[in-house]
Amino acid sequence: DLAPVRRALISVSDKTGLIDLARALADLKIEILSTGGSAKAMRDAGIEVRDVSDLTDFPEMMDGRVKTLHPKVHGGLLALRDNGMHVASMAEHGIVPIDLLVVNLYPFEDALARGAGYDEMIENIDIGGPAMIRAAAKNHAHVCTIVDVQDYDSLLEEIKAHGGEEAQTSYGFRQRQAQIAYARTGAYDAAVSTWMADAVGEPTPRRRVIAGELKQTLRYGENSHQRAAFYTDGSNRPGVAVAEQLQGKELSYNNFNDTDAAFELVSEFLPADGPACAIIKHANPCGVAKGATLKEAYQKAFDCDRTSAFGGIVALNGQLDGDTAEAISEIFTEVVIAPAIHNDAKKIFAKKKNLRLILAPGLANTSEAGRAYKQVSGGILVQDRDNGALTLDDLKVVTKIAPTDAQMEDLLFAWKVAKHVKSNAIVYVKDKATVGVGAGQMSRVDSALIAAKKAERMAQALELPEPLTIGSAVASDAFFPFADGLLEAAAAGATCVIQPGGSMRDDEVIKAADDAGLAMVFTGMRHFRH
Ligand code: 5GP
Repeated sequence: DLAPVRRALISVSDKTGLIDLARALADLKIEILSTGGSAKAMRDAGIEVRDVSDLTDFPEMMDGRVKTLHPKVHGGLLALRDNGMHVASMAEHGIVPIDLLVVNLYPFEDALARGAGYDEMIENIDIGGPAMIRAAAKNHAHVCTIVDVQDYDSLLEEIKAHGGEEAQTSYGFRQRQAQIAYARTGAYDAAVSTWMADAVGEPTPRRRVIAGELKQTLRYGENSHQRAAFYTDGSNRPGVAVAEQLQGKELSYNNFNDTDAAFELVSEFLPADGPACAIIKHANPCGVAKGATLKEAYQKAFDCDRTSAFGGIVALNGQLDGDTAEAISEIFTEVVIAPAIHNDAKKIFAKKKNLRLILAPGLANTSEAGRAYKQVSGGILVQDRDNGALTLDDLKVVTKIAPTDAQMEDLLFAWKVAKHVKSNAIVYVKDKATVGVGAGQMSRVDSALIAAKKAERMAQALELPEPLTIGSAVASDAFFPFADGLLEAAAAGATCVIQPGGSMRDDEVIKAADDAGLAMVFTGMRHFRH
């Protein structure tokens, strides 16, 4: 299954590693064919190269739109070397075999990232490159295709591994590279198509391709009998995908999921508005708080539900300092993620070998547009990311009494947290710290009740005179369909409420709030999360 490498065609936009690769190929007596810019770069480095235009007897034309689109190129890539008819056609038309193709494409994705205009995007759509890649990959029985700079070394190692007079590659290697090649052309066209959907303003195109790049394979999925891997989507959104792990065991599937939830939540709190901390368990917050210091924010978050915080994921919105690290170290914590980490904190965590410490490149922009995907049997649900946010001006007071300024702050805090709690979500907040979180219940009443019960239990554990829900602000991620959920929150001691409103029975709910002496505001926006 070994195939010789006598002739290579190199055509690359990203010239990284090109010279080293070309020199190594030339040393192996491999003839190099190349296109304009690539050929020039190699010649400038003193490497002997033959122009594709010399092979085809056609000049590159139309601003490079047509360089390699020629039967002498595609015949050389596609011909089956062990097929008499193919070999005869090659001889008849003066086609020589091309055994190795090294191509990386016009940087369409880079142009997209820098916000290039329409015409520039069009010029960045590579035509000849994908055509050659697809041809060579199809013919992996004989031809080796390399589309990624990071595979140059493995190519040279592959050739070296087979020694001999002549450079050769194995079938297995060529097949693996062919798979990578098709993933690349697939992802490339997916990026083009997604860009065009946005350009024509079509949020729901008839066909949509979702592509990803393997970041790492995971030991297993949510459970140990499920295989799993993590793929990046090319968006470079700050968070687990582009973060740097400073220490600890590899992130598991569940760690990725929970760390993302923690980081997205804490990113709701701008550092300019003060330190904030979120602790996550099973993708739900079990404590979120702001404090004068990060350490205080952590402790307030921890005090919301100390039982659940054990083995949790901690996200911080500012530089993790030694004091905070010390406080976090007091219990078992799976993951800590922050946009900056002081050396003192690194030293303290170094003693906790298993703790995964993650440095994120800045906070996530929670108001940024983007898409969210969810798999269902036979399909993928796509929606805009929930980037909805409120300001004071969006709120409508619907009760006889209005919240005080301090209550208003707690209400907005509770609302931000509720956005990140699985529905039905009820969140009690006091002094910019959650004091009870009710998540994922099928009934809103139960969420209100469970959160209050947990607050009672914490009050006992902390030997407080009364649960912290007394005098709290409460947020509901969706409207109260009846007064019962609201009354449950009032019974727990909540004195003000934030909720979307919009129920058929809003009047009944508002009356119940007035009767209970509560202040209530409507947001007009819902934050379901499932
Ligand atoms: P170079 O810098 O060598 O002039 O151009 C390299 C780039 O041209 C590569 O990214 C390759 O994919 C692309 N390319 C090669 N042949 C063609 C072609 O016929 N048409 C277009 N549009 N691009 C090509």
